[in-house]
Amino acid sequence: MYDVVIVGAGFAGSILAERLASQQNKKVLIIDKRFHIGGNCFDSFDEHGILIHNYGPHLFHTSNKQIWDYLSKFTTWYNYHHKVEGFIDGQYVPIPFNLNTLYKLFPDKMASSIENKLIEKYGFGNRVTILDLQKEDDKELKFIANFIYEKIFLNYSAKQWNKKVEELDSAVSARVPIVISKDDRYFNDNYQALPEQGYTKIFEKMLTDKNIHVMLNSNFKDILTLEEKTFSLFGSEFNGEVIFTGMVDELFDYKFGELPYRSIDLKFENKKLESYQNATTTNYPNDYDYTRITEFKKMYNSKNDSTTIAKEYPQEFINGVNTPYYPLFTDENNTKYKQYEEYSKKFKNLTLIGRLAEYKYYDMDDIVARALEVYEDKFNAN
Ligand SMILES: Cc1cc2nc3c(=O)[nH]c(=O)nc-3n(C[C@H](O)[C@H](O)[C@H](O)COP(=O)(O)OP(=O)(O)OC[C@H]3O[C@@H](n4cnc5c(N)ncnc54)[C@H](O)[C@@H]3O)c2cc1C
Repeated sequence: MYDVVIVGAGFAGSILAERLASQQNKKVLIIDKRFHIGGNCFDSFDEHGILIHNYGPHLFHTSNKQIWDYLSKFTTWYNYHHKVEGFIDGQYVPIPFNLNTLYKLFPDKMASSIENKLIEKYGFGNRVTILDLQKEDDKELKFIANFIYEKIFLNYSAKQWNKKVEELDSAVSARVPIVISKDDRYFNDNYQALPEQGYTKIFEKMLTDKNIHVMLNSNFKDILTLEEKTFSLFGSEFNGEVIFTGMVDELFDYKFGELPYRSIDLKFENKKLESYQNATTTNYPNDYDYTRITEFKKMYNSKNDSTTIAKEYPQEFINGVNTPYYPLFTDENNTKYKQYEEYSKKFKNLTLIGRLAEYKYYDMDDIVARALEVYEDKFNAN
């Protein structure tokens, strides 16, 4: 009955469903255990009429025109450039740390001297990671590197990851650079915007094809089972393609052990205020148990009587209790993942894709790119 079964209706699963159904007339069954499509990008209007991101703030940004053009088939865009402030030494300052942050936190003469050195060393408009800045020998550059490390990275990393910055994969710490410019925007990509009607509408459009059947509130375990080297679907042998975007360790019954994640307890609060904070997101590296607060109405500049915020309390992922958010990259975990990846090759008709199945951190544009690449290479070649 079905040519393809897809587990997970996030970007990875939905894009492959859309491509296979619309371009190859394949009959696709897409299963998700949640009550909604969209995976972690799901958004919805809360009871106060404010569009919230149910799994934490999602800001779209890319420099890849192909990704932008592909998504533009499913949405129009609301022009939005994300800004973040950090609460540092009693002041709200731009994050990532940039030259404006420098002048807000230090006397002009000192800031100017450090600014000149940063520009001379890295060039105006460029970005440097904290770990690279810390390698500087110059006294002032060393001072500022240590300041940024201690005030912006150290405690944030402890809260977010329960680890020191230097224990993290370098790609993780590089995600928040030091910016040698006065551009207060959080991202520097060519395309920065929000879907005009929200992310969920994108997924609704992707999955409307008559060839796609969506099953929600359904754990794949109840529908799709693994035999020695094959799958069975609703109790009968299934020889079509299986695209899996859930947790790979769950798929293989944790045979090599659990892959660890960090989770977040998101606490939404509605305030009877016009505005709660200056920027859409405020980071609290050194104060409180939460890492950041996002005020959703600031994204679309929507006019509501009240405002909804979300505080993010990072926590350990406990299977069956909370949601796996961020893979924890360590050598040990990466090795464990490789065992699962190797084992998956026994199943000729299985594709693992997405942040959970590949145990990778993908931004939205990355996962869109990955899904389109997998479609072209694996399902549309010759
Ligand atoms: C807090 C947070 C903030 C983020 N902010 C940004 C941002 O600002 N900008 C950006 O570009 N990216 C952001 N991202 C990344 C973005 O969420 C991912 O790129 C995207 O969700 C990846 O899509 P996916 O399809 O791989 O995974 P998911 O969206 O997680 O989809 C996987 C799906 O599989 C389903 N599933 C899992 N197990 C089962 C099962 N047993 N049975 C059935 N279904 C199952 C899940 O319910 C889920 O719907 C953020 C991520 C997080 C965690």
